[in-house]
Amino acid sequence: MGIELNVPEIDIEAENKEIVRRYRKLLRTAKPVIKDNDAKLIRKAFELAVDAHKEMRRKSGEPYIYHPIAVAQICVEEIGLGTTSIIAALLHDVVEDTNVELKEIEKKFGKKVASIIDGLTKISGTFSPGSSSQAENFRKMLLTLADDVRVILIKLADRLHNMRTMDSMPRNTQLKIASETIFLYAPLAHRLGLYPIKSELEDLYLKYTHTDQYFFIADKIQQTKASRTKFINEFIAPIENELNKQNLKFTIKGRPKSIFSINNKLQKQKIPFEEIYDLFAIRIIIDCPLESEKSACWQVYSVVTDFYKPNPDRLRDWISTPKQNGYESLHTTVMSKSGNYVEVQIRTTRMDEISEKGYAAHWKYKENTTQSKEVGLEAWLVKVRDVLEASDSSAIDFVNDFRSNLFNDEVYAFTPNGELKVLPAGSTALDFAFEIHTHVGLTCLGAKVNQKLVPISYKITNGDQIEILTSKKQKPTDDWLKIVVTSRAKAKIKDALREDKKVIAATGKEILERKLKHLKYDMNEGLLTDLRTFFNLKTNMELFYRFGISSLQPQDLKRFKEAMDKNLTGKPLQNEVRQSPIMDSKSFEREIKKIRGTDADMLLIGEDMNKIDYTLAKCCNPIPGDDVFGFVTVSEGIKIHRTVCPNAVELMSSYGYRIIKAKWTSQTELSFLAGLRITGTDRMGMVNDITKVISNELQVNMRGITIDTNDGIFEGQIMVYVNNAEHLTQLVKKLKAIMGVVNVFRFDS
Ligand code: MN
Repeated sequence: MGIELNVPEIDIEAENKEIVRRYRKLLRTAKPVIKDNDAKLIRKAFELAVDAHKEMRRKSGEPYIYHPIAVAQICVEEIGLGTTSIIAALLHDVVEDTNVELKEIEKKFGKKVASIIDGLTKISGTFSPGSSSQAENFRKMLLTLADDVRVILIKLADRLHNMRTMDSMPRNTQLKIASETIFLYAPLAHRLGLYPIKSELEDLYLKYTHTDQYFFIADKIQQTKASRTKFINEFIAPIENELNKQNLKFTIKGRPKSIFSINNKLQKQKIPFEEIYDLFAIRIIIDCPLESEKSACWQVYSVVTDFYKPNPDRLRDWISTPKQNGYESLHTTVMSKSGNYVEVQIRTTRMDEISEKGYAAHWKYKENTTQSKEVGLEAWLVKVRDVLEASDSSAIDFVNDFRSNLFNDEVYAFTPNGELKVLPAGSTALDFAFEIHTHVGLTCLGAKVNQKLVPISYKITNGDQIEILTSKKQKPTDDWLKIVVTSRAKAKIKDALREDKKVIAATGKEILERKLKHLKYDMNEGLLTDLRTFFNLKTNMELFYRFGISSLQPQDLKRFKEAMDKNLTGKPLQNEVRQSPIMDSKSFEREIKKIRGTDADMLLIGEDMNKIDYTLAKCCNPIPGDDVFGFVTVSEGIKIHRTVCPNAVELMSSYGYRIIKAKWTSQTELSFLAGLRITGTDRMGMVNDITKVISNELQVNMRGITIDTNDGIFEGQIMVYVNNAEHLTQLVKKLKAIMGVVNVFRFDS
């Protein structure tokens, strides 16, 4: 942070007294966690830091050493860390900002402290969203995190103190640090279970970026304090009374929610401050031995709901299944006598400490608790490492993926063997498949959730039992990236797609080489550059790939050769067709003549894929073999509709000048999406028979399937990829042959 030298009129003596006072306070707070010899080491670190920073001042004019002392204080008081972290915090800026070297620190304080400070030094500087070198830094930081989570905890303390003391910073620095905080550090704090730090970081972000809004809410909270206290007291009185009767030891707190979260509510619900009822939550903290924690919490729950009616949709039991970051608590929302909902959080002292101090509190209770509580966080660290090491994904992608995981809440689901998997909320069956094993993910066809067949895009809800169905024929597609939310699944799918594309490109390269030979060309870099320019493609890989999937073909090469032969100027060749706008059927015919050089007025679907911009209309899902026409839209190029499309009549009658003729070419190998509706009588194994026909016998890929059964009758909808109408007819025939199937017909949209 900022350094300024010549600051006039300083009372050095008073300052030194203040430094010592702050240091003593640190020692007092740390007393319960430090052992006999530790005090000496901490003193040594303190003296080294004082000496190293003695010439430095913060932007506010204060001695710089206030900052490392404050960071150490946060580490002890707010995160619950011990000696090693205190020493590292005191020295955290020494290597970066002064001429003390890491070697010296290692000699004096040992390897552990040195490696933590090394980690902290490496991740200093600011991280701006979207910049790749900083994204790379962030990735490094998370790698260190998997090594020793104290690095990130001290970094959070450092950031928190900087955010608390930003007033004398220039405005642009404030904004940069604040946005970096909301982008990265607040979510990290959340993920590590440091809720108070997370909320403070968010509030401070708001203070510097939305200053008016921040003070508006802060004032309102202050003004309404008296009436709120009155309400809370009335609300808890009967509960307190009853808990005392039942001889429970407890404390009750009623705390307003953070300014940041209130602001979110104001923005989202667009209501005035006065109308937000859930401004605060009541927290009941029970003091009880470990073995009776669970029953005590439910006992309190029972008391609370005896007085106030609970909203059954808002019960959250994080005691039976703690969150991945270790959070344990029982939440319920009940109706107060005045007709407002109030959130009540029930937990024990131990759980409360974990929710306040997160990761560090785990260590404290580690020996006392069962294995399972530790497993969540460890598993998370393992996963972080997994994703970090996933080969190819670029650092920026990674950061974005990772961030989205940080923000999400969680959802719990079981394997058929009853093994619990915790995933980010919004995860799909496909995410779950990748969670089990990469191979299971890559061949995932669908899933059975609670015995019902669902598509891979099925969104998991808490408590689902999920059995993944796989098929050897199944392969990831680009669409899959839109289905998954976990960064692990995304990375694996991207890897597979890249592999797939490479294989196709390799074949395409052979094809291209052969065709070029026919035209008496040698395939060299110069020629490839000309080809890329002509077809408007960025990479050779892309060029090969197009030939691999036959979207570029021999006649395209002929066109290229003609242009080369005509081109005597030596200027780079351009495929002019792409730039020409097609506005109506007239301009379409003009363009198509340019391409084919002969009289033609027909769009050949498949052949012209790469020269003229068209897409298949979603309203009627045409597939090869269907009677179709093209419609020139205003902004989205040409759309292909079936002549039986419900919109066809209107389009043709009102916009005749935009209609163009179109038909399918025979050589097209592309897949098209079609919908089938199947009805029949339900029986055991029916669904398996259907999926077998679809995936094994006809090698069709399913995109989605939903099946409803009711009183022995079932109705299913399947979205399949087929090559043409003939292919679809065959599939319908096979499906009709399945025992119990009564009818199969195609439907649109
Ligand atoms: Mn610092």
